[in-house]
Amino acid sequence: MKNRLHQIIPNEVCFSCDVCCRFLDADSPLAPVFTAVERERVISHGVDAALFRPQVDGKSARIVLEASRVASAPTGYICPFFDEETSHCTIYPIRPLDCQLYPFALMFNEDRSQVVLGVDRLCPFGEAQLETEAFQRHIRHVIAYVESEAVLAQIAENWSLIGDYQDTVKIVHLLDKLEPCTFGR
Ligand code: SF4
Repeated sequence: MKNRLHQIIPNEVCFSCDVCCRFLDADSPLAPVFTAVERERVISHGVDAALFRPQVDGKSARIVLEASRVASAPTGYICPFFDEETSHCTIYPIRPLDCQLYPFALMFNEDRSQVVLGVDRLCPFGEAQLETEAFQRHIRHVIAYVESEAVLAQIAENWSLIGDYQDTVKIVHLLDKLEPCTFGR
């Protein structure tokens, strides 16, 4: 894919934060969704296919979370690819679009009439930097990436990637090329 998605958050900021990759519930709707291609890619690297739960779009799959092994962990569940000792993603080079985008989120708006792109204000970096010129420039970069033909096609085919509305997410763009009525909801 010609257009590449860059991450604006410095690694050291992510490694010292305890928001990403951790979840309150075993069946959290925020657990990452892998497109069919992404799922096959990680399985070809030796990951157990049983770690994926098929989604209603018939293509994508959500990862099955596991209980944290750290007694003092801020949440009870983690992504099975998350290393709690180092705070690293063990599949980082092949992590799914869902994770590459964060702190950006694809979701329906409140009345589910539109698909939107937003920034999760639970991400401390996103919340602190949102109004800066650099972050606003990055928002434009992410919009261009998501609206590229190849990425829009991936999302349309694996539409369970589009999450439910979350009031912690500040909407920054309407993805009007994605029609909610075509997603069987
Ligand atoms: S795949 Fe990697 S980045 Fe995504 S939630 Fe799991 S550990 Fe975090």
